[in-house]
Amino acid sequence: MSQVARVLLPLPLPEAFDYAVPEGMALAVGDQVAAPLGPRLVRGVVVELREAHGVNRPLKDLASKLDDPPMPPSAVAFVEWAARYACEPAGDALAIALRGLRAPPPKPETGLVATGMAPARPTAARRSVLETAGDKPWKASALAAAAGVSAGVVKALVDEGVLARMEIPEPARLQPDLSRSGAVLNPSQAAAVAVLCEMIAEGGFQAALLDGVTGSGKTEVYLEAVAAALAADPKAQILVLLPEIALTQAVIARFEERFGVAPAEWHSGVAPPRRRRVWEAVASGAERIVVGARSALFLPFANLRLVVVDEEHDGSFKQEEGFIYHARDLAVARAKIEGAPVVLASATPSLESVWNAQGGRYRWLRLRARHGSARLPEVTLVDLRETPPEPGRWISPPLQQAMVETYAAGEQTLLFLNRRGYAPLVLCRACGERMTAPDTDSWLVEHRYSGRLVCHLTGWSMPRPERCPHCGAKDSLVSIGPGVERLEEEARLLFPDARIAVFSSDTVADAEAARALVASMAAGEFDILVATQSAAKGHNFPNLTLVGVVDADLGLRGGDLRAAERTYQLLAQATGRAGRAERPGRALIQTYAPDHAVMQALKAQDRDAFLAAEAAEREAARLPPYGRLAAVILSSHDGAALEDYARRLAAAAPNAPDVEVYGPADAPLALVRGRRRKRFLVRADRSVDLQAFLTTWRARAKPPGSVRMTVDVDPYSFL
Ligand code: ADP
Repeated sequence: MSQVARVLLPLPLPEAFDYAVPEGMALAVGDQVAAPLGPRLVRGVVVELREAHGVNRPLKDLASKLDDPPMPPSAVAFVEWAARYACEPAGDALAIALRGLRAPPPKPETGLVATGMAPARPTAARRSVLETAGDKPWKASALAAAAGVSAGVVKALVDEGVLARMEIPEPARLQPDLSRSGAVLNPSQAAAVAVLCEMIAEGGFQAALLDGVTGSGKTEVYLEAVAAALAADPKAQILVLLPEIALTQAVIARFEERFGVAPAEWHSGVAPPRRRRVWEAVASGAERIVVGARSALFLPFANLRLVVVDEEHDGSFKQEEGFIYHARDLAVARAKIEGAPVVLASATPSLESVWNAQGGRYRWLRLRARHGSARLPEVTLVDLRETPPEPGRWISPPLQQAMVETYAAGEQTLLFLNRRGYAPLVLCRACGERMTAPDTDSWLVEHRYSGRLVCHLTGWSMPRPERCPHCGAKDSLVSIGPGVERLEEEARLLFPDARIAVFSSDTVADAEAARALVASMAAGEFDILVATQSAAKGHNFPNLTLVGVVDADLGLRGGDLRAAERTYQLLAQATGRAGRAERPGRALIQTYAPDHAVMQALKAQDRDAFLAAEAAEREAARLPPYGRLAAVILSSHDGAALEDYARRLAAAAPNAPDVEVYGPADAPLALVRGRRRKRFLVRADRSVDLQAFLTTWRARAKPPGSVRMTVDVDPYSFL
């Protein structure tokens, strides 16, 4: 043995393992290997190589080097960094990075080609097939159809050897066409692009916040930055992160229009064989632009030269299960490791990013007006205490009036309600029982399309019962409150002739369905779109002139650190859909709290004042970004073991200056999937290495096997 390889395995193990490198196996950091683990061989990635001097314990030999492309060393470094940040085993981060390799690559397509042999019996049908086939490969069915013959004729020619099956070679990957020109930029766009080009020319890590109102043309700006990065380095690769699959299609179309080729797409909706193709092409450097959801961050870019995070404020960038991370924050880290610029774009940037921009850590690029003559919508607050809807209805008279006018003008309305299903609560009129899932502390949401009651946390569901499961009363269940399905019902009652559609994750199953619905809406095929947040972001609907926010107070309930900020962002985005083209738009916001700072800021369209007030509150409480926060969540089927461990863990908290540990407290969701839950919250000053604190703490009181511990650094969910 002359060399030792430290190999990281994509498994939840505390560390990488050392293996002996067999003589003759030439390895480099990032190479993929087959490593023995117990009786199995598992895939692993070499993270370090060193000479074997001084190693005096027996090491297992690596079995082989795999043919898969290596992970670039910077991608390996990122995996290790992300794991330390999240306080999780590095193997868990590696598992995300290698997810693209789970399936074999797609089978090569095959087709029929003429072999040059003459058919034994040259009938008219057979001659037609050969004339049609020419010298290119055909699918059998397409060939039969084009030649106007039955499938049997083609098959007979194959059997005779006149046609033969062969692999159709993959078309060469087209490179982005940099000779195409982009939009003619307006002066603020041009100024922003100039700064981004400067950052690209300077090279190295820098961050910019592209802060522009909805419709100001941020996408056009970052398309030009992408063009500059591609032009500056013929091997440059670009990553564009989006918070939702529903947005990827529109952005991909913009890239295709700008560069003549579609970028690679990366998200859970992409089929596994295709994902392997993308993974390999990203690792080899052949794929130049990737547009994807958060896990695209972990792709093995060979030469990542620019990262764009669009809608950077969006909470969907936070991965809340398994390996918990915030993709925007990790995108900045990845750019730093790669020595590349990163652009964070939003109309409603997060307090964190604005704080970084104000402090000079990020370049601050502002686009204060919409492009062209488009104006921001007029915002009106509808005080539901003064003009309430009729009982059992949710559209107030002023909103209804506005909808009537919009419909009469042949324009479109978006009704925004961030709640899936028909009704958020079903209760029994006879005994007062609220329908909940058997194993989870949350109300069941009624879905009328499917006729089921669904737990939105776990997906558990049951048919809507005819009798109350508690008291047995028949037909006593009533639906309380609205979801989008119920709002659709009300809209149909009010506008029986209008064309109405619902956009929520229940009606739009995948990226293709989202693209189709967005396209029909943009083409004016609907008069009213009832939508959750999936439709409220990013899309351009030229004929949409009215946005009605049905329940503006929805997100303000609950004790969430970011409740006000998030509500502001969501409603500013939703109302920003109105009046994007040359038609002026308006937004009506229904609220019981018109004096709330969020509603006032929306009405005055004064984001800066709102953020300043929010920032002052956070600073006083030394909460993010003025301090650091982490949540520790314990859960178990065994209530006694949970209590006992929570007490032990509380007692084991290290005594550190500038760190406060709160809890344990019952989590607001005290029961999920049959597991009881408890939470700690840790607040620390910015100078504290919070990850080191958490790691030390955890090491002092290991959980028993029956208790699961989850660490959530910078939590966004407080449930
Ligand atoms: P944002 O991303 O800021 O919401 P977009 O980039 O989607 O804005 O631009 C909004 C609309 O204005 C789009 O239809 C876009 O094509 C158009 N637009 C933006 N900038 C320009 C420009 N310089 N020239 C022509 N059209 C533009």
